[in-house]
Amino acid sequence: MNVTYACPACEVGVRLTFDSKTPALVCPHCGERLAISGDAVAGDSVKRCLSCPSTDLYVRKDFPQRVGMAFVAAGVIGSSIAWYYMDVYWTFGILFATAIADFALYIVVGDALMCYRCQSQYRGVKEMNSHDSFDLEMHERYRQLAARLEQ
Ligand SMILES: [Zn+2]
Ligand SMILES: [Zn+2]
Repeated sequence: MNVTYACPACEVGVRLTFDSKTPALVCPHCGERLAISGDAVAGDSVKRCLSCPSTDLYVRKDFPQRVGMAFVAAGVIGSSIAWYYMDVYWTFGILFATAIADFALYIVVGDALMCYRCQSQYRGVKEMNSHDSFDLEMHERYRQLAARLEQ
Protein backbone atom coordinates (compact mmCIF):
# COMPACT_ATOMS: atom_id res chain seq x y z
CA MET A 1 0.00 0.00 0.00
CA ASN A 2 1.17 3.55 -0.45
CA VAL A 3 0.00 6.96 0.64
CA THR A 4 0.35 10.35 -1.00
CA TYR A 5 -0.05 13.25 1.38
CA ALA A 6 1.08 16.81 1.92
CA CYS A 7 3.58 16.91 4.77
CA PRO A 8 2.05 19.07 7.54
CA ALA A 9 5.47 20.53 8.40
CA CYS A 10 6.99 21.40 5.01
CA GLU A 11 3.87 21.06 2.81
CA VAL A 12 5.73 19.04 0.20
CA GLY A 13 3.79 16.20 -1.45
CA VAL A 14 5.12 12.92 -0.12
CA ARG A 15 4.55 9.41 -1.38
CA LEU A 16 5.41 6.57 0.98
CA THR A 17 4.70 2.86 1.10
CA PHE A 18 3.38 1.37 4.31
CA ASP A 19 1.80 -1.73 5.75
CA SER A 20 0.27 -2.73 9.06
CA LYS A 21 3.74 -2.93 10.64
CA THR A 22 4.95 0.53 9.62
CA PRO A 23 5.34 2.54 12.85
CA ALA A 24 5.33 6.03 11.31
CA LEU A 25 5.39 8.06 8.13
CA VAL A 26 8.63 10.00 7.91
CA CYS A 27 8.84 12.90 5.48
CA PRO A 28 11.91 12.46 3.24
CA HIS A 29 12.24 16.23 2.87
CA CYS A 30 12.14 17.52 6.43
CA GLY A 31 12.07 14.37 8.58
CA GLU A 32 8.66 15.17 10.12
CA ARG A 33 7.36 12.01 11.77
CA LEU A 34 3.69 11.09 11.73
CA ALA A 35 3.13 8.16 14.05
CA ILE A 36 0.65 5.60 12.76
CA SER A 37 -1.70 4.64 15.55
CA GLY A 38 -2.18 0.94 16.14
CA ASP A 39 -5.76 0.79 14.92
CA ALA A 40 -5.22 2.79 11.72
CA VAL A 41 -4.01 -0.03 9.49
CA ALA A 42 -5.31 -3.58 9.82
CA GLY A 43 -4.06 -6.17 7.35
CA ASP A 44 -4.92 -4.91 3.89
CA SER A 45 -7.28 -2.17 5.01
CA VAL A 46 -6.89 1.41 6.15
CA LYS A 47 -9.28 2.34 8.94
CA ARG A 48 -8.45 5.98 9.29
CA CYS A 49 -6.33 8.68 7.74
CA LEU A 50 -2.62 8.44 8.54
CA SER A 51 -1.71 12.09 8.08
CA CYS A 52 -4.63 13.71 9.93
CA PRO A 53 -6.95 12.63 12.76
CA SER A 54 -9.91 12.04 10.46
CA THR A 55 -11.62 8.67 10.18
CA ASP A 56 -13.68 9.64 7.13
CA LEU A 57 -12.25 8.20 3.94
CA TYR A 58 -13.98 7.61 0.66
CA VAL A 59 -13.40 5.37 -2.33
CA ARG A 60 -13.00 6.86 -5.75
CA LYS A 61 -11.75 5.73 -9.12
CA ASP A 62 -8.02 6.32 -9.38
CA PHE A 63 -8.54 7.89 -12.76
CA PRO A 64 -5.59 9.90 -14.04
CA GLN A 65 -7.37 13.15 -14.89
CA ARG A 66 -4.76 14.20 -17.44
CA VAL A 67 -5.22 10.98 -19.41
CA GLY A 68 -8.98 11.47 -19.42
CA MET A 69 -8.56 15.05 -20.62
CA ALA A 70 -6.18 13.89 -23.36
CA PHE A 71 -8.81 11.45 -24.60
CA VAL A 72 -11.49 14.13 -24.66
CA ALA A 73 -9.18 16.59 -26.40
CA ALA A 74 -8.16 13.98 -29.00
CA GLY A 75 -11.82 13.22 -29.65
CA VAL A 76 -12.75 16.88 -30.07
CA ILE A 77 -9.77 17.69 -32.33
CA GLY A 78 -10.19 14.51 -34.40
CA SER A 79 -13.90 15.01 -34.89
CA SER A 80 -13.44 18.73 -35.72
CA ILE A 81 -10.99 17.79 -38.47
CA ALA A 82 -13.44 15.21 -39.82
CA TRP A 83 -16.25 17.79 -39.52
CA TYR A 84 -14.13 20.26 -41.49
CA TYR A 85 -13.86 17.72 -44.29
CA MET A 86 -17.65 17.24 -44.04
CA ASP A 87 -17.26 13.59 -43.16
CA VAL A 88 -20.15 12.84 -40.81
CA TYR A 89 -19.27 9.16 -40.33
CA TRP A 90 -15.72 9.94 -39.24
CA THR A 91 -16.92 12.79 -37.03
CA PHE A 92 -19.20 10.58 -34.99
CA GLY A 93 -16.92 7.56 -35.36
CA ILE A 94 -14.07 9.42 -33.67
CA LEU A 95 -16.30 10.80 -30.91
CA PHE A 96 -17.71 7.35 -30.30
CA ALA A 97 -14.26 5.70 -30.27
CA THR A 98 -12.86 8.15 -27.72
CA ALA A 99 -15.95 7.72 -25.54
CA ILE A 100 -15.42 3.94 -25.61
CA ALA A 101 -11.71 4.33 -24.82
CA ASP A 102 -12.62 6.61 -21.92
CA PHE A 103 -15.08 4.07 -20.61
CA ALA A 104 -12.62 1.16 -21.01
CA LEU A 105 -10.02 3.10 -19.05
CA TYR A 106 -12.58 3.76 -16.34
CA ILE A 107 -13.18 0.02 -16.03
CA VAL A 108 -9.51 -0.98 -15.82
CA VAL A 109 -8.27 1.68 -13.40
CA GLY A 110 -8.30 0.69 -9.78
CA ASP A 111 -9.83 2.40 -6.79
CA ALA A 112 -8.07 4.75 -4.45
CA LEU A 113 -8.97 5.84 -0.93
CA MET A 114 -9.17 9.56 -0.27
CA CYS A 115 -9.36 11.52 2.96
CA TYR A 116 -12.12 14.14 3.08
CA ARG A 117 -10.19 16.32 5.45
CA CYS A 118 -6.64 16.47 4.09
CA GLN A 119 -7.00 14.91 0.61
CA SER A 120 -4.43 12.22 1.30
CA GLN A 121 -4.61 9.42 -1.24
CA TYR A 122 -4.18 5.73 -0.49
CA ARG A 123 -3.38 3.31 -3.28
CA GLY A 124 -2.90 -0.43 -3.35
CA VAL A 125 -5.34 -0.91 -0.47
CA LYS A 126 -7.01 -4.27 -1.05
CA GLU A 127 -9.87 -4.06 1.37
CA MET A 128 -11.99 -0.93 0.84
CA ASN A 129 -15.47 -2.30 1.46
CA SER A 130 -15.66 -0.65 4.85
CA HIS A 131 -15.52 2.76 3.18
CA ASP A 132 -18.27 4.44 1.20
CA SER A 133 -17.92 6.22 -2.09
CA PHE A 134 -17.79 9.98 -2.28
CA ASP A 135 -20.47 11.76 -0.28
CA LEU A 136 -21.11 15.39 -1.14
CA GLU A 137 -22.63 16.21 2.24
CA MET A 138 -19.56 14.92 4.04
CA HIS A 139 -17.29 16.78 1.62
CA GLU A 140 -19.22 19.99 2.26
CA ARG A 141 -18.95 19.51 6.03
CA TYR A 142 -15.16 19.24 5.81
CA ARG A 143 -14.91 22.13 3.38
CA GLN A 144 -16.80 24.38 5.80
CA LEU A 145 -14.70 23.15 8.70
CA ALA A 146 -11.53 24.01 6.77
CA ALA A 147 -12.92 27.45 5.88
CA ARG A 148 -13.75 28.14 9.52
CA LEU A 149 -10.29 27.07 10.66
CA GLU A 150 -8.73 29.44 8.16
CA GLN A 151 -10.51 32.48 9.57
ZN1 LIG B 1 8.12 17.45 5.37
ZN1 LIG C 1 -6.59 13.01 6.33
